[in-house]
Amino acid sequence: MTAAPILPGSVIGVLGSGQLGRMLALAAGRLGYRVHTFSPERDSPTGHVADVEIVGDYDDVDALRRFADGVDAVTFEFENVPSASVAAIAERAIVRPAGSVLHTTQHRGREKSFLSRAGLPVAPHALVDTLEALQAAMVRLGVPAILKTASFGYDGKGQVRIERAEDAAPAWDQIGRQPAVLEAFVDFERELSVVAARGVDGRIAHYGVIENAHARHILDVSVAPARVPAQVERDAIAIARATLEALEVVGVLCVELFLTRDGKVLVNELAPRTHNSGHLTIDACATSQFEQQLRAVCGLPLGATDLVRPAAMANLLGDLWQDGEPRWAEALARPGVRLHLYGKRDAKPGRKMGHLTALAETPEAAASLVREARAALTASHVRA
Ligand code: AMP
Repeated sequence: MTAAPILPGSVIGVLGSGQLGRMLALAAGRLGYRVHTFSPERDSPTGHVADVEIVGDYDDVDALRRFADGVDAVTFEFENVPSASVAAIAERAIVRPAGSVLHTTQHRGREKSFLSRAGLPVAPHALVDTLEALQAAMVRLGVPAILKTASFGYDGKGQVRIERAEDAAPAWDQIGRQPAVLEAFVDFERELSVVAARGVDGRIAHYGVIENAHARHILDVSVAPARVPAQVERDAIAIARATLEALEVVGVLCVELFLTRDGKVLVNELAPRTHNSGHLTIDACATSQFEQQLRAVCGLPLGATDLVRPAAMANLLGDLWQDGEPRWAEALARPGVRLHLYGKRDAKPGRKMGHLTALAETPEAAASLVREARAALTASHVRA
């Protein structure tokens, strides 16, 4: 039994108001939908392009109910919304992905246990909630290891690397003595991701394997297609499919993966939404991850995910503004390079302000082009 699709002209509610919501709202607008965004921020990246920007706290149940009454379906661009709030919204509007998916993925411990139960490969890990438990886990898993807070971690926030037995107590203090997951350090060859969508009818569409390089724990450059052996590609896609099926997610989900030096694929973490590594789908694929999210959430057929040309994406962090406004014309002068800016006013170091996408004949050429284009944004600052 499949409910009737939510058709163009309907109103999509987005929890969260950052760049992911902005790019969803841009895709939704093109298809004739209206968008209401709800978050604690005013003058937000999503608010700039949405029809309505509602400012409220994620635990303000009355405000969330009013928001839900004004929309036909609700989805997320920010997944750390309290479960009780999602439940309150679900009484009044269709919520996709369901609260159960968020409940699993917003807690590293629950996510890891879920993946292990589903038979999906993860790094050796242990859930710890005391210093003693951490010390015992270190003996079992060995060092180096990474201690990660169970909740609210992203882009390497709430993470400490542990090298020696003496690091246990300071690391436990550093993460604020809160429930955490200790993970064995994975000596990975590279990091990969698979962005995929699952529709209300259970069909899955994926964008293939994307290769990701991080800098200071923040995604730096993504390249598609990933330059990996065919077996690794098959394994990564099979893991992604199995994850979406086991979670019964309706919407887009990104599976972040490690490729170990001996060719094994392990799941690092899940994001039940569009993902930074999928931004290149806007310029390089038949259907972007944002339109795909909209289609999945609205119960429409999923779009074709073909990669039309090899592509690479480079994030533009606030650091680029250090010596003044980046020289946009320098990047835009390069054929095949496209600029995306999120409308954020404060260019703080480490803050994601926008990205560049480059399309080329090969993934290598796209990666070189996008790095060159980004370097050109500030090259003249250095010479001056
Ligand atoms: P996360 O927030 O869990 O995605 O971690 C951010 C980044 O830290 C990852 O993309 C990796 O570059 C690195 N990292 C996280 N966990 C591990 C691990 N167990 N071993 C090695 N590197 C890791």
